[in-house]
Amino acid sequence: MTKSNEPIYVTKPVLPPLEEFLPYLQQIWDSRILTNGGSFHQQLEQALCEYLGVKYISLFTNGTIGLVTALQALRITGEVITTPYSFVATAHSLLWNGIKPVFVDIDPDTLNLDPAKIEAAITPSTTAILAVHVYGHPCAVDAIQKIADNYNLRVIYDAAHAFGVQYHSGSLLNHGDLSVLSFHATKVFNTFEGGAIVSPDAKTKQRIDHLKNFGFVDEVTVVAPGINGKMSEFNAALGLLQLKGIDAAMQQRKVIDARYRKAFDNVQGIRCFSAVHEDVANYAYFPILVQPGYPLSRDELYRKLREHNIFARRYFYPLISDFPMYRGLPSAAQSNLRVASQAAKEVLCLPIYPGLTDEQLDSVIGLITG
Ligand SMILES: *Cc1c(COP(=O)(O)O)cnc(C)c1O
Repeated sequence: MTKSNEPIYVTKPVLPPLEEFLPYLQQIWDSRILTNGGSFHQQLEQALCEYLGVKYISLFTNGTIGLVTALQALRITGEVITTPYSFVATAHSLLWNGIKPVFVDIDPDTLNLDPAKIEAAITPSTTAILAVHVYGHPCAVDAIQKIADNYNLRVIYDAAHAFGVQYHSGSLLNHGDLSVLSFHATKVFNTFEGGAIVSPDAKTKQRIDHLKNFGFVDEVTVVAPGINGKMSEFNAALGLLQLKGIDAAMQQRKVIDARYRKAFDNVQGIRCFSAVHEDVANYAYFPILVQPGYPLSRDELYRKLREHNIFARRYFYPLISDFPMYRGLPSAAQSNLRVASQAAKEVLCLPIYPGLTDEQLDSVIGLITG
């Protein structure tokens, strides 16, 4: 179907022209400063604070180490309420901290943690809520904060999908106690691999910065059992350059999003998600639900696209709660997670990325509507 029959993946990383990166590399080669909070690291932290509209940011080697460290930074223990409908790293970060995940079902309108179901899952051991802004769509941040305040819980957002999203007239990343970003190759903003934690105050940022550098405060003082989570100068320099293209990239995603929506408007059994009143959305993903009324099941459509070299992805199937290290938990029972289980059966994320041509987009749409 596609003209050259070149495979179309769910995403394709944006990269700047290589020539534009060479001067940055030259600087690194000249200075011989490769990591440990060098000048590019400092510049990227500052540039991201300004771009995102947040106060404090700590760069990380990837989002997962960011999640593990965020839980350490707030000294979270016991049980944490979280969603089964996410990338597996969300819950893994809890197990790496010896914390018990307690899965709560999701809201059918957003596929984010359903605040109405959180309270019933709170026990005396609950210390925090780890929620995910799935597809970059904001969680019910006010309702979640209210519950957290009532029960004295901390709130951490896995904001791996939420780069650049503005909500309630400010950055979505300013909600909760901490937000964790991923700059993985497949994300809206990439540094090859990378991540960050957004903190509300200087003291918390300082604790996080100690934790990501083995707990070192100075040459001879170690204050915590830290890890090595530092972003290198190579990744930070790339991030500075990538930031220049991010608005254009989000704009191109927006155009594709609009074309999909229009094309599927009258297709029976294909459900798109409406915006969650973001002031600025990032169009990170284009999920559809393949529902009764559509002639094919989700998996049949997934296979049909693959036969035409189009690699849509079933984000998120299987649910985290179905993986072997989680499925024995009482909260992992399907009867507790009806909405998530249904969404995992119906969801398909379609290709969306800058550089997806009109012809390629037409072929994806044609196979779904035709
Ligand atoms: C990508 C992703 C992560 C992990 O980020 P890495 O940078 O790949 O470690 C965590 N949570 C969610 C929801 C993700 O999509």
